[in-house]
Amino acid sequence: MLTFPKRSIQMPITYRLAKDFNVAANIIRAQVAPNQMGTMVVELAGDIDELDASIEWMRSQNITVSLASGEILIDEDSCVHCGLCTGICPTEALTLEPSSFKLTFTRSRCIVCEQCIPTCPVQAISTNL
Ligand code: SF4
Ligand code: SF4
Repeated sequence: MLTFPKRSIQMPITYRLAKDFNVAANIIRAQVAPNQMGTMVVELAGDIDELDASIEWMRSQNITVSLASGEILIDEDSCVHCGLCTGICPTEALTLEPSSFKLTFTRSRCIVCEQCIPTCPVQAISTNL
């Protein structure tokens, strides 16, 4: 998650990441407005050294970079398999199994963007962050 100070809000971050570091940035969620702080959840892909360099550069620009280290937890006793969370998940970590219509969670695909948490009507999704 990137948090921008007001003065960095116009900075073309994804362009600079691609051009200067060869890092691809897939924007999962963004909340930016002129003259306000902004936040962006991005999935970064690239060479590990260039990823590290790009994060160091963003921090040098006063952008706060928080790396996802937690996990999404699904309470299987509470889940009613309504499928609402599957529609919002950008990586298809949450899907309904076609034959049983049961929720399937593929942890390896989850980028912990947390978009699924507020969609669940029975609060079956949480994070250990
Ligand atoms: S946090 Fe939820 S919406 Fe985001 S990738 Fe993981 S399962 Fe999908
Ligand atoms: S939104 Fe909640 S109840 Fe519905 S399938 Fe997802 S985890 Fe289960």
